[in-house]
Amino acid sequence: MTTYSLLILPGDGIGPEVMAEVRKVIGWFENNRGLSFDVSEDLVGGAAYDKHGKPLADETMAKAQAVDAVLLGAVGGPKYDELDFSLKPERGLLRLRKEMDLFANLRPAQCFDALADFSSLKREVVAGLDILIVRELTSGVYFGEPRGISADDTPGNEGGRVGVNTQRYTSGEIRRVARSAFELARKRGNRVCSMEKANVMESGILWREEVQWVHDNEYPDVALSHMYADNGAMQLVRNPRQFDVILTDNLFGDVLSDAAAMLTGSLGMLPSASLGAPMANGRPKALYEPVHGSAPDITGQGKANPIACILSFAMCLRYSFDLGVEADMLEKAVEQVLADGLRTADLMGPEGGTPVSTSEMGDRILAAL
Ligand code: ATP
Ligand code: MG
Repeated sequence: MTTYSLLILPGDGIGPEVMAEVRKVIGWFENNRGLSFDVSEDLVGGAAYDKHGKPLADETMAKAQAVDAVLLGAVGGPKYDELDFSLKPERGLLRLRKEMDLFANLRPAQCFDALADFSSLKREVVAGLDILIVRELTSGVYFGEPRGISADDTPGNEGGRVGVNTQRYTSGEIRRVARSAFELARKRGNRVCSMEKANVMESGILWREEVQWVHDNEYPDVALSHMYADNGAMQLVRNPRQFDVILTDNLFGDVLSDAAAMLTGSLGMLPSASLGAPMANGRPKALYEPVHGSAPDITGQGKANPIACILSFAMCLRYSFDLGVEADMLEKAVEQVLADGLRTADLMGPEGGTPVSTSEMGDRILAAL
């Protein structure tokens, strides 16, 4: 039997509260589906700083490199606001992302029918929505050189300065994130739409050519289309259900994934993942985490919605462990409790519902499973 190794880093604030519910879910799959997980737990962020004097200990980093997947809660909190930049809780997360070289950031936008009225768009546009944005995370205009602000004495330039960033992508950087997107598409609806601006950007031309190359040579079975990113933004709010996997660069992905998040509603519902290169066992390095932060305003009150973290674990089942059936079960259980009207405080809309605490929500999801 395969044993899946998991490193759990609950972190700070509501991180440990929502992660406790994920641990219940893991226990359920072990007891009822015969799955075997080798789970270890460690500190990150402020919790790690309190114990080790830095936001991620070297031993924790080494563990993260060795496991099949890392599951993270949240980091940060007002207690750590005055810390030196290099000691801040967020640096622990940044170190994980950087040293694991997690170049593909996955942001699903899934709209559960019971929450369709939470969307910024009309119910009939978003009900049943299930798309995945794959954003390149380690290159592009946020990192390219040259960059900076300098004097510019061109006649007529009022203010006399110029600001420069460089959008730079190598073919290798494009091919590896394209492979991630095609692999993910095979576990979903088997369609990829790649977005760039090949009409006005050289890096966009290269992006389109390289994505097409990876498709033609390695993933001809996946349906590939290309779209200019501005049109993509329009299509995302006009008819988002036309998409399965959207593949895009760091800058466009930043904008498009935030727009997509508003298609589905509460911050407490949004999972994410970051993937790196395949390891010796063929699975990508991976870190799964809810999109929300440590939410100090509701910490310790049993108010946190555990669903974002639970759905992050569903992504882990699907994308790191190839357990698509179990991932579907978990997502359906979430759908069920929402349809039953159970609501943590963040999901309480005008139509009301049955208020539940963090742990009650977890229990009801187990019952639905
Ligand atoms: P960070 O800088 O860590 O992203 P933030 O303050 O920007 O922190 P969050 O910590 O995510 O963002 O909190 C934003 C708001 O959303 C807060 O009012 C918080 O209580 C609420 N919130 C965040 N996550 C959840 C959750 N899982 N359940 C309920 N409410 C949440
Ligand atoms: Mg924030």
